[in-house]
Amino acid sequence: MTSTQFVSRLERNHAAKTPEQRDAILSDPGFGNHFTDHMFLAEWTPDTGWSDARVVPYGPLSIDPATAVLHYGQEIFEGLKAYVHEDGSIWLFRPDANAARMQRSARRLALPELPVDWFLGSIRELVSADRDWVPAGEEKSLYLRPFMFASEVFLGVRPSQHVTYSVIASPAGAYFAGGVRAVSIWLSSEYSRAGAGGTGAAKCGGNYAASLLPQQEATANGCAQVAFLDSTEHKWVEELGGMNLYFVRSDGTIVTPELSGSILEGITRDSIMTIARDLGHTVIERRVSIDEWREGTADGSITEVFACGTAAVVTPIGSLEWDGGEAVSGDGEAGKVTTDIRSALVDIQYGRVTDRHGWMSKVV
Ligand SMILES: *Cc1c(COP(=O)(O)O)cnc(C)c1O
Repeated sequence: MTSTQFVSRLERNHAAKTPEQRDAILSDPGFGNHFTDHMFLAEWTPDTGWSDARVVPYGPLSIDPATAVLHYGQEIFEGLKAYVHEDGSIWLFRPDANAARMQRSARRLALPELPVDWFLGSIRELVSADRDWVPAGEEKSLYLRPFMFASEVFLGVRPSQHVTYSVIASPAGAYFAGGVRAVSIWLSSEYSRAGAGGTGAAKCGGNYAASLLPQQEATANGCAQVAFLDSTEHKWVEELGGMNLYFVRSDGTIVTPELSGSILEGITRDSIMTIARDLGHTVIERRVSIDEWREGTADGSITEVFACGTAAVVTPIGSLEWDGGEAVSGDGEAGKVTTDIRSALVDIQYGRVTDRHGWMSKVV
């Protein structure tokens, strides 16, 4: 079934927040706490394909207890941001890359692929309806969360014959209020995030569910996040629970773990390859062993380590910790290469420099 052309209807929220209520939220939004006045919804069945695209008042979904996603976790999601530029226009960063990744995730989870024009249309319609919710100001943005789930009421185990796609939006403050700070990362020795042949390369809720117990362990050890190794040899560095990793070497090269099939292909990771080359670095994708991380930070051949993803952009990693040891990168604070790459990326997203790679897409 090929889906029909994207046409969306708008049902305005008559109980929308007042400008005063909205401004109070936008002055200090935090992350993931507040949601805009509207949400996007569309439905899929094998017979109709994608249909019923609509922007409606934000509110609870009514879910039958036998809805498949509640039992078997057939669900995928995306994450991207809308940014206000100096002239008040609103822009997205590489939304076509999110659309393509959502199709890849859908294939792995046996969900129907959402056509690219439906994905881009859904974002555009929601951001246009809620344009007053995109916060202006230093590193503020509107975080967009497209997601798709098995909405068939059926307990049999098979790909759902009814699927719902939705987009919600949440104003986001600067991730690092008061300056970018280096974090400590816990090395998980017992758990893996994903395994060979599994769903690690798909952006699905189940991967996050698997990361929560090791994340608790990290928190108990005073660390912000978990670093995961490959599940077969427990030797190769993969990524954090929701961010990819980069290593800056003393010879000026920058290394990121090559895609293994269980690493999520981040759009920030991909963009940084280009930005780092623009800044004159050689970027290499290859396997990085946990011994290289430990020994490299000890002997100075690795000078900086950072994590990257849409939510926090670039996060410096001051130290890797494990039972009985730690590997401190540089002086344990944000390094110069990390900071320069972060600034270069954020400057593009906020329209402060020329968008040389055609990454920005204007909404309104
Ligand atoms: C979303 C995600 C990332 C980062 O991807 P971006 O496209 O850069 O936001 C990295 N790792 C995992 C596991 C993720 O889910």
